[in-house]
Amino acid sequence: MSEDGSVVELSVEDWRARVLAALRADGQRLTAPRLAIIGWLAAQTTPFSAEALTAALAHHPASVGRATAYRAVDWLRERGWLARVQTERGDYTYARTLPGHHHHAVCTRCGATLLFEGCSAIESLTALLARQGFLVQGHILELFGLCARCQAALGGMR
Ligand SMILES: [Zn+2]
Ligand SMILES: [Zn+2]
Repeated sequence: MSEDGSVVELSVEDWRARVLAALRADGQRLTAPRLAIIGWLAAQTTPFSAEALTAALAHHPASVGRATAYRAVDWLRERGWLARVQTERGDYTYARTLPGHHHHAVCTRCGATLLFEGCSAIESLTALLARQGFLVQGHILELFGLCARCQAALGGMR
């Protein structure tokens, strides 16, 4: 875990380029279905489900099969490129991330993601729960909002 205060902006194009580089480094061929999947994932502005991915690409010219789409999502999740986020309804969606433990602030308008390293925001909560006898063993912290560019585009709306 690196020090607190380090914030990295992960743009849609950054994520796409890094994932394609990781696929190549892993010896995976950049087939048309895989490129279609990565392109769709990179373009999503809010967390998405695997079902939405397969539905969106069902009629894609690259003919992306359901099994191919699910395998791609698993590959990305196992290697830390997608974070699994549980929804209020209890099912799972995915959000773009980078390998390693990060916290995310996701722009709901353009999909730009700020990655925070360091967990100091969690420490006081962990200590509070410890006083209640609760042992915290892990955490996920996701924030949603508008990036600086989108606020400017919306005329300074907050
Ligand atoms: Zn934005
Ligand atoms: Zn953390």
